[in-house]
Amino acid sequence: MPLTLVTVPCLSDNYAFLLNDSDTGATLLVDIPEAEPIIAMLQQRGWSLTDILITHHHHDHIQGLAGVVAHDAYLRVTGAAADAHRLPPLSRAVSDGDTFVFSGHTIHVLDVSGHTLGHLAYYIPDAGAVFTGDSLMALGCGRLFEGDAPTMWASLQKLAALPPETLVCSGHEYTAKNAEFALSVEPDNAELIARAARIAADRAEWHPTVPSVLSDELATNPFLRVYLPKVKETLSLTGHSDAEVFAALRARKDRF
Ligand code: ZN
Ligand code: FE
Repeated sequence: MPLTLVTVPCLSDNYAFLLNDSDTGATLLVDIPEAEPIIAMLQQRGWSLTDILITHHHHDHIQGLAGVVAHDAYLRVTGAAADAHRLPPLSRAVSDGDTFVFSGHTIHVLDVSGHTLGHLAYYIPDAGAVFTGDSLMALGCGRLFEGDAPTMWASLQKLAALPPETLVCSGHEYTAKNAEFALSVEPDNAELIARAARIAADRAEWHPTVPSVLSDELATNPFLRVYLPKVKETLSLTGHSDAEVFAALRARKDRF
């Protein structure tokens, strides 16, 4: 396996990700919450950055760019064409369905708007990983700041259709709080109860709960489970569409 994935904690609860190809030395970074921990990890590993992928325009995902670029000057920066006006200057502007190549490995671009419009996810089959930013998160999903509920629901369905063993590399450590909410929706879900216990144990030792595995999200993340009669019944929305139930669930989480 020439690809090595490293999670880099940044700020108070953000994550950036590094992916290194040991065959070529190429190293990719997803999101730049702050420069210092990323540069420290690169130095610790002896890696030099060649590529940066941006998921969305929020400051906590791009504000470290200048510091990282100053350190490794020859970088390709990739982000959403639709967001080019509010992202740092892009070397490569991409849209839903595009593919491009990192060190011989194909990267698939998915538009996963909802949290913001123009929010992208990057799926790298050779790494078995998808970088989801603030769309699909461990046991949760991003708040709807720019998109509406049907848009986010469609985005989550694209991610849910990836191979179940895919690692979900999302942008924040919100998992313990998300677990409380998930349990309030599905208190009898045995897999969720077991996962919540693992999360509590991990967080007690400050271990990241990200990345997670897509199959675990499918089994326990309520935002991927709004199609279930039991979840609809809990929300008193039996007979309503999945998108309507998703909207109600997201609104309930906003108040939780
Ligand atoms: Zn965000
Ligand atoms: Fe964020």
